[in-house]
Amino acid sequence: MYDISAIGEVLIDFTPMETEAGMGPSFSANPGGAPANVLVQGARLGSKTAFLGKVGQDAFGHFLKQNLEDNGVDCQGLVMTETAPTTLAFVHLDDRGDRSFSFYRRQCADTLLTKGEIAMSVIKNSRVFHFGSVSLTDEPTRSTTLTAVALARYSGAMISYDPNYRPLLWANEQQAVKAMRDGLAYADILKVSEEEARLLTGEADLERAAAALYEAGPTLVCVTLGHQGAYFFNGSAKGYVPAFSLAAVDTTGAGDAFFGALLHQLSPMCVEDLPYLKEKELMAFFRRANAAGGLTTTGYGAIPSMPGPEAIEALCRK
Ligand code: ADP
Repeated sequence: MYDISAIGEVLIDFTPMETEAGMGPSFSANPGGAPANVLVQGARLGSKTAFLGKVGQDAFGHFLKQNLEDNGVDCQGLVMTETAPTTLAFVHLDDRGDRSFSFYRRQCADTLLTKGEIAMSVIKNSRVFHFGSVSLTDEPTRSTTLTAVALARYSGAMISYDPNYRPLLWANEQQAVKAMRDGLAYADILKVSEEEARLLTGEADLERAAAALYEAGPTLVCVTLGHQGAYFFNGSAKGYVPAFSLAAVDTTGAGDAFFGALLHQLSPMCVEDLPYLKEKELMAFFRRANAAGGLTTTGYGAIPSMPGPEAIEALCRK
């Protein structure tokens, strides 16, 4: 049985590095893709995890598979194809250290996963099944993802969803909001940022937005608030959980670490338990998730700075 499995995008992020004296500009290649990051954080805390996706049969594809396996993620559902290249993303850092991305993605491997390629044995044996809206934009990944989600639900998994708004991946905001909204009806556990909550509901007030999201399907709504922490709502219990005061240097992957740590704690439960979770229990779960997200901001890159259980417990004891 897998505690958490996920389907979705997996790619290489090329990040600019300090130029060596006398050399031209250089990049470092890092594994990217939100669903895989969520699994790595879950695995680091002891969850059994598995990833479903597609990479090219090329150096980047082998690098990604090796990296996921080295981080404890089962890759029997990661398809390697000879007919398409691995997806690549180029990160631009502005003067303030904020990031934007350009993608080499059209007809790339992770956009081409088909229904016939999904690892049924993984999906049927997952306690939590996680997906994002990037996979809902175009065929064939849209049908593939929705089929996987339906099969996971039928097999008794809790469905977890992160719309993961990345403006540059969609032609316009309308298409983005449509893809993000599409996933809501399938979700039991939803994670959104404040901006996503506003885009999805048109509500400026956070609590009203969370209530509207709850009405659209999910039983547990989680809103991440950056350095301010997070908010939860499950139909009865609601609350703000403050972030830890830490010296953040790079926020890449903080939301994924937060969600990986939250799903790790929820995975022993089943969907019927979610509406009965009390404020005190949720506060404790979210405190650890905030610790995971916060600690991830204290180092560069997503995966290298995701914490293990000892670091989270030590921070939560303070
Ligand atoms: P996303 O927008 O990707 O969902 P956030 O940037 O809100 O993610 O970060 C996720 C979580 O990580 C937050 O809820 C918070 O607990 C923690 N976090 C993020 N930024 C900071 C920070 N500057 N200081 C402390 N904790 C942070």
